[in-house]
Amino acid sequence: MVLDFITLAHEERSAWIASLGEQKYRLQQIEEWIFKQGVLDYTQMANLPKPLRDTLAQQSVPVLSAKVVAARTDGGATKLAVELADTQVVEAVIMRYRHGLALCVSTQAGCKMGCAFCATAKGGFARNLSRHEMLAQLLLANAHLRAKGERVTHIVLMGMGEPLDNYEESLAFIRIAVGPLCSISARRISVSTCGLVPGIERLAGEGLPLTLTVSLNAADDELRQSLMPVAKAYPVNVVLAAMHRYAEVTKRRVTIEYVLIKGVNDRERHARELVQKIKGGNFHVNLIPYNPVANSSFESPLPASVRTFQEVLSGEGMAVTVRRGLGTTVQGACGQLRGNLQK
Ligand code: SAH
Repeated sequence: MVLDFITLAHEERSAWIASLGEQKYRLQQIEEWIFKQGVLDYTQMANLPKPLRDTLAQQSVPVLSAKVVAARTDGGATKLAVELADTQVVEAVIMRYRHGLALCVSTQAGCKMGCAFCATAKGGFARNLSRHEMLAQLLLANAHLRAKGERVTHIVLMGMGEPLDNYEESLAFIRIAVGPLCSISARRISVSTCGLVPGIERLAGEGLPLTLTVSLNAADDELRQSLMPVAKAYPVNVVLAAMHRYAEVTKRRVTIEYVLIKGVNDRERHARELVQKIKGGNFHVNLIPYNPVANSSFESPLPASVRTFQEVLSGEGMAVTVRRGLGTTVQGACGQLRGNLQK
């Protein structure tokens, strides 16, 4: 019997405990160990009778079938290299902000989307992650933070992979994260997509006030297609229409991510084109100065171009922020996640 205790629904877990002839409160004890105490090994759950501990260890897959194999911190960001049961390595990044601790979760090992500026794309696609493997990143991050008495308060599905290309598992993970054991508010969870329109529409119908983040990166179809192959399937206007609908249905402001690449999409005219396209929408623009990726000819924008770009947008009354370059020295910033162990 292969049971995955941590991703079961509450009723399934209760039924399983009952089938062992154990009292109901045992379930609560186990859940407390995992989700409150961060004890991720059944054999160490001290208040459980030894036979129950042994049964759990034998009948369920381990609490976690993933482990941290490297952790590196750079100021406000800690990159955890997480090795999965099949030895694939993905990355999860803990980011320290004024308002809390956000965890950037990977949803796939590799990625199929092929964005020209992204390190993950360069390694190709290996496989989708399961809900267990996404939850493992959260539990491992919390275990990492425990020593300081801290835990993850926000989640961004913005690590390796495209969450809407692994829709079922990403959503199942989100439902666990907002559930009673993790209790992270849906408003504090952000799903970042390269613009897969059917997935955006489906997400709008989930009844969850999640933040939708769309990586636009160019307002012009030709330029966007040269950077992001997915743009050939979904033109900018079609993506924007889906974003407007998402904002309308969920009453949530949608975030537009825009990676600024020197000489490619960072000119004043690009900013004006962007304003023309998105004006009037319930949007917030987050500018991300390009983070260097090995074997790439792209370059980071000059600080002056970033400033001008931001001023054009804010001058038109747009909500705009510039992302802090968290984690660049550990290759843990946006677009730098590869999954290899950089020693
Ligand atoms: N597939 C999802 C989530 C992963 S990418 C998406 O496309 O949104 C997360 C963010 O990193 C995206 O906004 C992407 O545009 C950005 N990004 C990718 N490579 C980058 C790089 N080299 N520098 C800065 N940001 C980058």
